[in-house]
Amino acid sequence: MSENNIVMCLNDLPADATFPNGMAAVDCEMMGLNVFRDRLCMTQVGNGAGDVWLVKFDGSDWDAPNLKKLLTDSRTLKIFHYGRKDIVTMQHYLGVMTTPLYDTKIASRLTRTYTEKHGLNALCVELLGVQLDKTVTSTNWGADELSAAQLDYAAADVIHLHDLKQKLDIMLKQVNRVHLAQECFDFLPVRATLDLAGWEDEDIFAHH
Ligand code: MN
Repeated sequence: MSENNIVMCLNDLPADATFPNGMAAVDCEMMGLNVFRDRLCMTQVGNGAGDVWLVKFDGSDWDAPNLKKLLTDSRTLKIFHYGRKDIVTMQHYLGVMTTPLYDTKIASRLTRTYTEKHGLNALCVELLGVQLDKTVTSTNWGADELSAAQLDYAAADVIHLHDLKQKLDIMLKQVNRVHLAQECFDFLPVRATLDLAGWEDEDIFAHH
């Protein structure tokens, strides 16, 4: 991680954040799993070119004009690993739907059908030969002062997404599922809207 420049920001991305390859890796940390109860605490953004911004929210200011501009910028692809919860949360707190999207977990499910392990660490180990430190997964992201270990962990969640996308794109081509994957990514905002409208735990395509 030492090759990455990690910058802490409060309540918004800096105006001078740039995405030279047109792709932003994004991840969020919340107080818990219930979007209506547990607020957004942090949005981590990486540009795949050595810069990571950790946008910490204090809960009093959801204006974030620079972050919202990135999330809705049609020319910048936002890469997530399991983006569903993150885009639901950012829609609820920031009031914007993130688009366009790429999701490494969905790409993994559509390609790595030989395994049930689609977690970020499993992907990093198999495709990149990198082991993530997951020791601070459950932690208080709403604390006023975050520890160095928390900041490293938060940054680690976005640092490998550009490289994973590159590997997964090759795998999607090999199994002829590039188009299907794209349709799934394009459907994510609809899935997020269903979640927020009360259908989070129901599959409206299911028979029963
Ligand atoms: Mn995370």
